Amino acid sequence: MTSGNGEVHLVHPILAAYVADYPEQCLVTCSKYGTCPKCKCGADNLHDHTTKYPPRTQTDTAQTMEDVKSKTTSASAYFEMCMENDVNGNVTTPFWTDLPYTDIHLAQTPDVLHQLYQGVILHLIKWCQTLGTEKELDRRIRRLPPALGLRHFKNGIGALSQVSGTERKNIGKILLGCIIDLLPIAAVTACRAILDFVYLAQYTTHDDATLGYMDDALNLWDKHKDVFLHTDVREDFDIPKFHALRHYVSSIRLFGATNNFNTEMFERLHIEFAKKGWRASNKRDEFPQMTQWVTRQENITSFARYLAWTRRETGAYALNYD
Ligand SMILES: [Zn+2]
Repeated sequence: MTSGNGEVHLVHPILAAYVADYPEQCLVTCSKYGTCPKCKCGADNLHDHTTKYPPRTQTDTAQTMEDVKSKTTSASAYFEMCMENDVNGNVTTPFWTDLPYTDIHLAQTPDVLHQLYQGVILHLIKWCQTLGTEKELDRRIRRLPPALGLRHFKNGIGALSQVSGTERKNIGKILLGCIIDLLPIAAVTACRAILDFVYLAQYTTHDDATLGYMDDALNLWDKHKDVFLHTDVREDFDIPKFHALRHYVSSIRLFGATNNFNTEMFERLHIEFAKKGWRASNKRDEFPQMTQWVTRQENITSFARYLAWTRRETGAYALNYD
């Protein structure tokens, strides 16, 4: 790689973090779908917040696969036996086996968009709708006065199809105010705990105190979540994305605040690089048109930067045109 001063360096990247949604996490870590990709908590124990399960390690997973390989002769037997050990039986040679300094399980990071908003908050809203009835919740949401920084859902949220991350965030902001006096007090407390956790998890800096608040919020949720079982809204809490919250604090300690791993930026780039290009095409044989569109956008941007730089260098304009 060429560095800023023109020197060419030989670079050995280390795979340290892997940002993915749950199905991809299971695939790359070779964990059985439904189990935790980071620790040895099985699919039926995900609700269990009292036991601390040992972490999965890359060596263990690779060893399990090797053992199963030596014991079985057919692909179906390999699959079966792997799955019994909570390992994904569809993979035989994972890409990470020869990567030094990598632990693929440890490398799985928190993901605010998919885990918190499109996972945890999504479930929470559904449960509130079931418990307080969708109609009454919508009625309350419609009645809210318009306020700065809050989206007003004039038709409620029940009729929304394909809810985006931004919409879910806006619902999260008004949810608590709308369920007070509607749901049992334990359910309100449980919701507040989850919302607290979601907002704390998005702090851009942390210390022992703020990480402690995250633990407190999660403990408060665990204390009150059973209300959703008692009211028949849920039969269990074996939900991988809820269990994933248990790994947030340690991941933040290891890799830093969650804004380093948020997939929102890439979702945003999907708009810039794919959706806008698609709109600019004539929708026939679109791929070359889209790539040309992106290339032109890049050229225009870099030329504008160059012009701004020359102006600054020559002092021709005092204004900054960036
Ligand atoms: Zn786990």
